[in-house]
Amino acid sequence: MDELGGGEEYLFKIVLIGDSAVGKSNLLSRFARNEFDTNSKATIGVEFQTQIVEIDGKEVKAQIWDTAGQERFRAVTSAYYRGAVGALVVYDISRKGTFEGIKRWLQELDTQNDSTIARMLVGNKCDLENIREVSVEEGKSLAEAEGLFFMETSALDSTNVQTAFEIVIREIYNNIS
Ligand code: GDP
Ligand code: MG
Repeated sequence: MDELGGGEEYLFKIVLIGDSAVGKSNLLSRFARNEFDTNSKATIGVEFQTQIVEIDGKEVKAQIWDTAGQERFRAVTSAYYRGAVGALVVYDISRKGTFEGIKRWLQELDTQNDSTIARMLVGNKCDLENIREVSVEEGKSLAEAEGLFFMETSALDSTNVQTAFEIVIREIYNNIS
């Protein structure tokens, strides 16, 4: 702990990863701007958004990185991962294939990043209960097996979006303090 107290600032880089169209960009826009976009396009040129969160009376800047759609080509660059201390690894509960893709994303995260990284498995689109293809139990057990936090979210109706980011930010904070 810092004995000088106050004044210090924290900047945490957090990356969003997962297959195309699982809702990464909308999770970020919901968290950072409380917005949802049904007509999703990759936002060209915007690499990250910064959100200020207070933890234990300290100001924490969460710099959250979103892909510009390059995951479609399996070409997320090492610069994207560099310096990341947190990750939300996202699948879509209504598309099994995106859940099956999680292992590959976790491997990529491991090879690209050697520091301690707070990782959360996120099953997004939990509002689509009627066309669910991945059960809550499947999500939970993968998370347990891989040592990840787990949460189902909906960027559409806001369920757990704030909480998911805050748990990751809190865990990063715990890792360093
Ligand atoms: P990305 O490619 O992972 O960044 O995914 P996007 O954020 O671009 O979202 C892909 C599509 O899924 C868009 O049509 C979004 O409107 C939709 N979408 C994103 N999040 C949700 C959600 O929580 N629920 C529902 N029903 N649709 C979502
Ligand atoms: Mg996107």
